[in-house]
Amino acid sequence: MAVYDKGWYRASPVIVQNVALTARGLATRLMRRGRAFRRALEELEQSQWFSREEFEALQNERLAALIHHCHAKVPYYRRVMRERGLRPEDITTVADLHKLPFLTKDIVRTEGDALLPEDLGRFGVYRSKTSGTTGTPLKLVRDVRSITTEYAFVWRLWRSFGHELSDRRTIVRGDFVVPPTETRPPYWRHNFAERQLIASMLHLSPRTARDYFEAWRKFNPRSLEVFPSGGDYLARLALEQNIDAHFDFVLTSSEPIPPDMRRNIEDTFSCKVIDYYGQAERVSFAMECPEHTGLHVAPEYGVTELVEPEGDAPEGMREIVGTPFINYSMPLIRYRTGDLTRPLDVECPCGRKMPLIAPIETRVGGNVILPDGRCVSYLALTRVFGPLGNIRRSQVIQDRVDHMLVKVVPGADFSGDDAESIRSGIKTVLAADVSVDIELLEDIPIEKSGKLRWFISELEGDGPDQR
Ligand SMILES: [Zn+2]
Repeated sequence: MAVYDKGWYRASPVIVQNVALTARGLATRLMRRGRAFRRALEELEQSQWFSREEFEALQNERLAALIHHCHAKVPYYRRVMRERGLRPEDITTVADLHKLPFLTKDIVRTEGDALLPEDLGRFGVYRSKTSGTTGTPLKLVRDVRSITTEYAFVWRLWRSFGHELSDRRTIVRGDFVVPPTETRPPYWRHNFAERQLIASMLHLSPRTARDYFEAWRKFNPRSLEVFPSGGDYLARLALEQNIDAHFDFVLTSSEPIPPDMRRNIEDTFSCKVIDYYGQAERVSFAMECPEHTGLHVAPEYGVTELVEPEGDAPEGMREIVGTPFINYSMPLIRYRTGDLTRPLDVECPCGRKMPLIAPIETRVGGNVILPDGRCVSYLALTRVFGPLGNIRRSQVIQDRVDHMLVKVVPGADFSGDDAESIRSGIKTVLAADVSVDIELLEDIPIEKSGKLRWFISELEGDGPDQR
């Protein structure tokens, strides 16, 4: 959301900005929480208890309808099917899906409007772009139904934990609602329509942290919605400054959440983290349940395949490929997300029969490659930083196969011992002789999206786009 890009908003006093956000909140509330939303949520709350057979039947039916739509209306798929001699009747079940090729970011970029249905005008559509840090951003189209449905999936998840639509929430993600140059509070704005306090991640620092927590003490939100990197930063600042803070839930998504980061957030705010997985392209959706066994992949959202990744990937990892049912205004079939996970072959004690996957760990191209050729998930490195309390923010860059540059924003008590722990810790977890340089900085700026890419590989090959 880039409210701040609008000149009139920037020029307005805080109270007008609150009113503007509330007005927009009312509009989204109408769209997101209207009858269509409530019906979608109700349906989803029932279908989450479906048997495997019921899910299979539902998926086959929705897939057949999607293929029919693509063949009838979307030039790209009509061409692809003609080239392969396929008719819609050839793809009526999930088992037939492999007859169609994978779709990649590059294809989406090159094909452009050929991926949009000829009757696009009949959908109320919204255009957006991915925030991709490398390469050109993807242009994406979504319709009102898709946005409403997506929102229902998110709320099904939160309600399964007892988080209600009427509860107060605070959000500190990529919302640039406060001028970047602002040096005095409030670093947040109100959306009264949706009972949200939207705070700026950009302004959060050791100097301002106390103001944020004071605002939350007054607003008393039930949940905090945050990127994992932001949640970790908040927790570290609270700990360092002895600030007592509690939320009933911390809701995370959009970045992998390493176990140490998760523990840090949960311990500091004495609550559970609820994590879910989605992407800007909206091709697959997976959510935790109150048992926290892993992520349940939502079969009603689309077909999610786990395939052999292209390029270097840690052993046993599979790439998530999604065919969503929920967006007819830009149907993506077999879209390669680049996100890596592991299938979990267990029954969840919660009773849901939706397939389980491990939390998303990493992305294709976003892993550590070692001198002996091993490819290791960068999450291994996060274990080194988890126990180090004297660090506010960190970032690891692999610039050579035998060298890591570690950027550190030190806490007040950071010492040479901490630096040594980083150096030796990295060598130990990687079981490799890599040299490590540590650079102490006053800050590591977050990206425009509000995220912080914690590990960056500068080795040959495509760098990872961010979710
Ligand atoms: Zn479960």
